[in-house]
Amino acid sequence: MIDLRSDTISRPTPAMRIAMAEAEVGDDVYSDDPTVKALEARVAEILGKEDAVYVPTGTMSNQIALRAHTEPGDAVLCEAGAHVYSVEGASTAALSGITVRHLQGERGIFTAAQVAAAVYPRHPFMPKSVPPPVKLLCLENTHNLAGGTVWPLAAVAEVATTAREHGLALHLDGARLWHAAVVTGVPESDFAAHFDSVSVCFSKGLGAPVGSALAGTSDFVARARRFKQMFGGGFRQAGIIAAGALYAVDNHRERLAEDHTKARTFAEGIANTAGIEVDLESVETNIVRFGVTALAAADFTERCHAAGVHMVPGGPDQVRAVMHLDISTDDVETALDVVRGAVSP
Ligand SMILES: *Cc1c(COP(=O)(O)O)cnc(C)c1O
Repeated sequence: MIDLRSDTISRPTPAMRIAMAEAEVGDDVYSDDPTVKALEARVAEILGKEDAVYVPTGTMSNQIALRAHTEPGDAVLCEAGAHVYSVEGASTAALSGITVRHLQGERGIFTAAQVAAAVYPRHPFMPKSVPPPVKLLCLENTHNLAGGTVWPLAAVAEVATTAREHGLALHLDGARLWHAAVVTGVPESDFAAHFDSVSVCFSKGLGAPVGSALAGTSDFVARARRFKQMFGGGFRQAGIIAAGALYAVDNHRERLAEDHTKARTFAEGIANTAGIEVDLESVETNIVRFGVTALAAADFTERCHAAGVHMVPGGPDQVRAVMHLDISTDDVETALDVVRGAVSP
């Protein structure tokens, strides 16, 4: 099976498994795990932050950040298709008691003017106690639902400046910040510099089995550790999985360019196929979102699955294919044949 459902399905490589098997471990809840600490220090260094905390999932990482930046009743601004809002099980409401205000982006990218317009104006006729206080702006780079699209550094800076002017804190959902860094040549720390907190995933394109990290100032991370425990994220001998993440961070970042090339090859390969619509400009990293007009996306993905290519529908006529380190160049060619066969009458 050529599995293009997500980059999360990638499995640890043999070298990564050796690093994991040999990892020194301790009890992470007691801050005793040397491998977890090494990973946290390495991530803080890459992101140019004072500290970082290793957590089980990207969802937990984001939700700890949102909780740490807000109080119940506060509001958070994010893009309409943001992962923190659309696919994290309504945890903003359930875990933090916060509401979300949406900004409709273009391929996931919104503007500083949209941020300014979304923050309630401090007009003397408007009682301060009425609108939910907007405390945080959350931005996603690369943007998953938009198809792995990249926020350019200049656009990040513009939006961040406006958010600061309105007194907002800033959180970056950088699950795939690694991809943005590779494709733009801008170091992760340059993006991270605009944010109070940054979440990164090890279990996506980097190919590690488990985990994410949340970085920020020492004070912020100390507060985040409290919510990590509260949300049930204290995981004892986590060094075994942290070793996989550390290996991935040090060995699998540059190779992400190969996944971007595979995505481009795949997108260009389906671009002129009757029954398929793809916006080539939206394919910037390792994710290809495309439209299927020949048949329902659900039927299309079932046909492809029967022919050995696994993808998930992202809507009634939308499909997502994600490239990762378990997919070879030959697999891409095979997948192209299968996709073309599935839409041919
Ligand atoms: C995958 C993902 C997450 C969450 O990661 P999990 O480990 O699956 O919880 C957060 N944000 C974005 C943009 C993602 O793609």
